[in-house]
Amino acid sequence: MLRGKVEPDGKENWIVLEFMSRLLHQIMEQLNTANPISLTDMKQELGRAVAILDKANSASPVKDFRSSAGALSNIDEEIETSLYSDEVCEEVREWIATTFARTTPGMRRKSLARRHTFRSVVQAVKASLYVNSESLQSTLPKYFSFLHLPRFEGEAGRSLSFKEVCRLDNWTFDPFKFNDVSGGHPLRYIGHELFTRYDLLAKFKITGGTLDRFLLSIQNGYKKPQNPYHNELHATDVAHSVHYFLSRVGLMHCMNDLEIFAILLSAIIHDVEHTGTTNNFHVNSRSHLALLYNDRSVLENHHLCFAFTVLKSRDQDIFASLTPEQYSDIRTLVVDMVIATDMSSHFEQLRTMKAALSVLGNQIEKSQALEFVLHVSDIANPAKDWELHRQWTSRIMEEFFCQGDRELELGLPISPLCDRSVTCIPESQLGFIEFVVLPAFDVCSEMLDILLETKTSQAADELGLEGCGGKERAWVAPLADNRRRWKEQCQTPSKDGINETRTASNHSLASRTSFGANELGRVDENRNKSPRNSKGYLTPIIS
Ligand SMILES: [Zn+2]
Repeated sequence: MLRGKVEPDGKENWIVLEFMSRLLHQIMEQLNTANPISLTDMKQELGRAVAILDKANSASPVKDFRSSAGALSNIDEEIETSLYSDEVCEEVREWIATTFARTTPGMRRKSLARRHTFRSVVQAVKASLYVNSESLQSTLPKYFSFLHLPRFEGEAGRSLSFKEVCRLDNWTFDPFKFNDVSGGHPLRYIGHELFTRYDLLAKFKITGGTLDRFLLSIQNGYKKPQNPYHNELHATDVAHSVHYFLSRVGLMHCMNDLEIFAILLSAIIHDVEHTGTTNNFHVNSRSHLALLYNDRSVLENHHLCFAFTVLKSRDQDIFASLTPEQYSDIRTLVVDMVIATDMSSHFEQLRTMKAALSVLGNQIEKSQALEFVLHVSDIANPAKDWELHRQWTSRIMEEFFCQGDRELELGLPISPLCDRSVTCIPESQLGFIEFVVLPAFDVCSEMLDILLETKTSQAADELGLEGCGGKERAWVAPLADNRRRWKEQCQTPSKDGINETRTASNHSLASRTSFGANELGRVDENRNKSPRNSKGYLTPIIS
C-alpha cells in the first residue's frame, strides 16, 4: 500500500496528516472490496500508521500544528475585533473575557489542554476507522423503545401526560411545565424517561430502583442550595437539549451505548450542588472548594466528586454491572465532559473544534464532539423560545446579583454583571448571544453536518430527523429572534425619545420596561436587603 510514497519523518504535521488520511482511506476501500485486506496485513498497516503518528506526536511541537491550522487565529481575531468595538460596553466585554476565557491561574492547564488537543488528532484518525466500520455493519439503529413512564407511588403521585412526554422530542420542550407535571421531580422523571428510551437499563443491567435512588440523590443535590438558576430545572433542560441532539438531530447514530450513557449522565450531574457562585468567586474568596481543587475548574470538580461519591453507595450504583474497562471508559468520558462545561474553556473549545473541522474534515474525535455538544446544550437558553429564554435570563441574573451582594459584603470587587444597581440585562444578553452562543451554535451545526452527513442523510426523512441537506436547524430562528429582541431593548427610546444610555438609572428603566415587570420588580425589592439575611434571594423568583 502507498508504494512509492515517501513516509513522512514526523516533523511536519500537515504532511503526516495527509499521508495518514490517504493510508487509512485505502485500508477502508480495501475492506469494502470483495477480497478485503487480511487481518495480518491490516495489523501491519495500522501498526505502521500508529508508529508514524507516535513519531509525529513526540517530534513536533504542538504550536506548529496549531499555527499552521490557520483557523485558530481567525476566530481569535474575529471575536477580539468585534468585542473591542465601541458597540460593546466595558462591563459585558469584561464579563465575556473573564468568564469564557482562561485567566492567568489556568495557564498551566491550558498548555496541558493543547497537548491533549494534539493527541486527539492521533485518536481522531484512529476513531474514524471505528466510525466507518460501524457504518459498514449496521443498518439504522432502532429508534426509541415505546414510551414507558415511571410511576412513584406516594411521591410524584401521577404519571406524566402523553402529550407532555411527547414534547420531550421537541426543541420547544418547557422544563418549567415539566416540573409542574412531574410534581417537582423533573430531573428524576427525565432521567428515568431517557434511560428507558435509550434502553440503558437493559444494556447496562441497571435496576429501576437503583436508578431511582441515584436520580433522587442527584436531584436533592440540586435542590438543596435553592439557586434561582443552577438547580434541577437547569439540569433537566440540559439533559433535554442533549437528548434532542442525540435523537432528532441524529447524533446517537454516531455513538455507541456507553457514549450515549456517558453524555446523558454528564448532563444530569453536570451542575449538582452548585453554589450559585462562579469559579472566579471561589478563587477570589479563597473558598474551601477553591483550596480543595487548587483553583482549577473548582465547581466542575465538585459536581463530579459529588456524583461519583453517590455512586459509591451500593444501592445507588448504576455502574455496578459495568466491566472494569467500561467503568474506566465512562468515568474518563464523564470527567472530561463535565470539566469541559467550565465556561472558561469556551473559546479554547471553540478554537479546537473549528481547527478539527477545518483540518480533519470528517475525522472528529468522538469524545471531543460529546464535550462540545454538552457545552453547547449548557449555553442553549438563548436558542430557545423567547418565553423560556426570558425566564432563564431572569433566573441567572438574580443568581449573579446575589453573588454581587456577597462580594460587596466580603469586600471583594464586584464581578462583571453582578452589580444589581448598574448591570444592563439586555446588553449582557446581547453580548452573550453575539460573542458566545451564536459562534458556538454555528460551529456545532457545522460539526453535526459533517458527523451526520453519511449517517442520516438517507434516513433523515424516514425517521423525522433534522437531517442535513440545507434544512434549517430548530435553534436558528429562536436565536435570531431573541437577539433581535434584546437589540431592540438596548435601543428602547426613553420617554423623551432619546435612546437609553448606559448609566445605572437608565439601565434599570430599560430593564423594567422591557425585560419583565414581575421579575425585575423582585430584583428591585431585593436590592436593599442585607445579603446575609437574604434567603429570599435564593428562592426561585418565578414560580
Ligand atoms: Zn450548567
